[in-house]
Amino acid sequence: ANPIRIGVVGYGNLGRGVEAAVALNPDMVITGIYTRRDPAQLQPANAATPVYRMDDLDAHQGQVDVLILCGGSKDDLPAQTPALAARFNVIDSFDTHARIPEHFAAVDAAAQGGKTTALISAGWDPGMFSINRVMSEALLPDGTTYTFWGKGLSQGHSDAIRRVPGVAQGVQYTIPVQAAVDAVRSGTCPQLTTREKHERHCYVVLAEGADADAVRQTIVTMPHYFDEYDTTVNFISAEEFARSHSAMPHGGFVIRSGSTSAGTRHVVEYRLQLDSNPQFTSSVLVAYARAVHRMAALGLHGAKTVFDVAPGWISPKTAAQLRQEAL
Ligand code: NDP
Repeated sequence: ANPIRIGVVGYGNLGRGVEAAVALNPDMVITGIYTRRDPAQLQPANAATPVYRMDDLDAHQGQVDVLILCGGSKDDLPAQTPALAARFNVIDSFDTHARIPEHFAAVDAAAQGGKTTALISAGWDPGMFSINRVMSEALLPDGTTYTFWGKGLSQGHSDAIRRVPGVAQGVQYTIPVQAAVDAVRSGTCPQLTTREKHERHCYVVLAEGADADAVRQTIVTMPHYFDEYDTTVNFISAEEFARSHSAMPHGGFVIRSGSTSAGTRHVVEYRLQLDSNPQFTSSVLVAYARAVHRMAALGLHGAKTVFDVAPGWISPKTAAQLRQEAL
């Protein structure tokens, strides 16, 4: 069969991750990277991959099977996904949870109009974690679901500390509180406050002449970001920052603890431990792009989420192979 032709829209962390992931999937090929910047400035990992201007997409209709949209959730995807879904099968990783319903509605209108398939909010959260929440809640209706994140670098919280006066460089890691994880795994269904579930650890390089105590105080009392958590602020050198804090690890657990009769408890857990948040997210996008291609061929048009995708559709194997090897 012909390989699935993938277009990559936007070339940041996820865009590079998609390149790496497609290289591990022989049934797919990247036919082009599309960017809003000057294509000559981008250097794809595979030098043979053509880089085009975003506007060139118009002329490439019919030459791409699925566009993997790698823009940011805040400003890029709310505009790009509906605009491109009108003409292409697409997939994105939109992760602003509270705004998913309105994003879905905008993308659905475009995809219904264009008779395309548009899968939104794939990745790990939303994405794989969402699937595990839905499955374990359906299997254990009497119970409690817990999501823990980390250890992981939070982009939003890192941006927030970098805006504090006196901070030259900064990162923030979200860390699950071990005692809380242990209590949940024990099956006792504890009630946990925000502070009891996660800690926040910050690593900061101070600007010349900045007051460390003032910086620490501004960070730990910052409303919405830090005031509801136990936050520690560590001051380090620029050298240590470069050496130890340039990776993007993340992960976490989804745990459902439930009961099927008096005294009969069950604990279901899904765990991710990721060296690179964007590379794993891109791997999920690539597998689900395969499902988008299949769903489009089946005429399943409109906006979709991971809940609408049969597990076998993300696999490169046929249904017969999966019955024989994986059941
Ligand atoms: P980046 O900031 O690396 O890239 C976003 C866009 O910015 C790119 O598509 C690119 O567009 C542009 N860009 C990238 N680098 C530069 C640069 N040096 N100068 C100017 N523009 C640049 O974001 P990520 O790839 O890390 O993440 C994208 C989104 O993925 C996040 O906003 C997040 O919401 C989502 N995400 C979702 C997850 C999930 O589980 N669902 C998990 C992780 C992330 P262009 O090439 O057109 O300029």
